[in-house]
Amino acid sequence: MDNKLLVENRECGECTACCVELTIEDPDLVKLPGVKCKNLHKSGGCKIYNERPKTCRDWYCMWRFMPQLSNEWRPDLKGVMIKRVFNNIPPGYEGKIALNFEIIGKKSAIHDMDFIEV
Ligand code: SF4
Ligand code: SF4
Repeated sequence: MDNKLLVENRECGECTACCVELTIEDPDLVKLPGVKCKNLHKSGGCKIYNERPKTCRDWYCMWRFMPQLSNEWRPDLKGVMIKRVFNNIPPGYEGKIALNFEIIGKKSAIHDMDFIEV
């Protein structure tokens, strides 16, 4: 996604979900999904923020791009991280934007009406 499309005045705040959930295969950092990054401070925040790998600089979850999602959809609050995906697009949907809804908190999130609607 083009970072010019980030929702205006929306910040990650205290969320550090991508520092745990994301797969990072960068020359400077390799991290498995679901594993807390070794550079993540206990109190939140990145120990190497100014020198963080390119993947960390460039990547944002879809909450940062979708103005139709309320502030409650911040991944650490909602327990759901929405990622854009480019592989395994079902036949007939090629060329469309594909999203993966990853449950990172309580599984009961999938029963919320706003989750079902989105
Ligand atoms: S290097 Fe920093 S920004 Fe990147 S995943 Fe680790 S803690 Fe997060
Ligand atoms: S998961 Fe989204 S909101 Fe949370 S830190 Fe990463 S980009 Fe920011």
